[in-house]
Parts: sequence; structure tokens; C-alpha cells
Amino acid sequence: MRQYTIGTGTLFIREGDITRLDIDAIVNAANSRLAGGGGVDGAIHSAAGYMELQGACRAIIDEIGSLPAGEAVITPGFKLPAKNIIHTVGPIWRGGGQDEPRKLRNAYLNSLKLAAENGLRTIAFPAISCGVYGYPVEDAAHIALSALKEGLEAGLVGEAGMVLHGQPAYELWCSVADEVV
Ligand code: ADP
Repeated sequence: MRQYTIGTGTLFIREGDITRLDIDAIVNAANSRLAGGGGVDGAIHSAAGYMELQGACRAIIDEIGSLPAGEAVITPGFKLPAKNIIHTVGPIWRGGGQDEPRKLRNAYLNSLKLAAENGLRTIAFPAISCGVYGYPVEDAAHIALSALKEGLEAGLVGEAGMVLHGQPAYELWCSVADEVV
């Protein structure tokens, strides 16, 4: 685990399974229909309780239609140790000319803002868009860590960080953090 002090807050980077964190909120890399899926979304649904979480997601989708890339919504954590789940949608990588960097940055910043609006102080993110959505990981890490730094500097939350799946991903994100933070 790496930690960096930013203003009065802390940015952390750790390796592991995000569903195991006992924290105010974990972030889900969801799809626009909040329909569940594979990757981290599937792991979060399994650990939270599929039916309960899908019930909450369906209620949101009934109201808003779909969640555009870069936006975020919140549900309870149900059976997770985390108290809440913030669902955000990262951009699908289509070569970089479709506004992907701005959408990815917004996914992080809007999740942090939603946490702040709900009085949450600690939040952990997975590597949004870095799985099946195909975002080049080093570029994604620069965007993500800059956004977390900005959110911490603004005092949106007290503690924000990344949970990376696997040692190679962890090491890459640490080396980017040493540049960005
Ligand atoms: P996306 O569709 O946004 O690309 P994915 O779920 O396919 O989302 O992948 C996002 C990242 O989450 C990937 O880097 C993947 O390795 C990671 N991941 C998958 N399961 C977990 C987990 N349980 N905890 C933390 N990260 C995870």
C-alpha cells in the first residue's frame, strides 16, 4: 500500500479485491444500463447480493433511462463491507478521438462530488475503463490520479484511492503516482 498526503487528505494505492474494503464507498465501473456484467461490476454484484443491488439499479434506470459515460449515481452497499456503492460509467476506448479523456476524468470527479454530497469521507476506485472497455492503462492512470489529487485538494473527501487487481497493475499505478502526485 502506498499513501500520499494531499492537503489535509490522503491518496492511497493498494493491490487487491475492492469488494473487501470496509470504507464509506467503493466505486463500480458500471455500464450505462447499470445491468451488471463481468469484471469488477460482476464481483461487486456477487459480493453485495445480486438481487438487492439489481433492484436498486433498476429503480435508478427506471427514473433516468440510462447513465451516460462520466456520470455517477449511488446505492447502498447491501452485503458489502463498504457502506455505499457509487456507480459510474467509464468511456469505451475508441482510439482517443471520442472525448474519452474528458469522460474518464468526469467519471472520477463526479464520483468524488457525489461522495461529498452524501457526506462520505473515504472512497476507493477500481481502474475504470481499463478492463473490457480497453483504455490504455498508463493514460488512464494519469487521468485518474490527477482527478483524485484535485478532489482531495478541494477537500471533497478525506481519503481517496485506487484498488488495483494484480501486482503488475499495482506497480504501474505506483510509478504513475510518483510522477503525478
Ligand atoms: P471496464 O468495463 O470499465 O473496463 P472492467 O470491470 O472490465 O471495467 O475492468 C476494470 C478494472 O477492474 C480492470 O483493471 C480489472 O482488472 C479490475 N478488476 C476486476 N475485478 C476487480 C476487483 N474485484 N477489485 C478491483 N479491481 C478489479
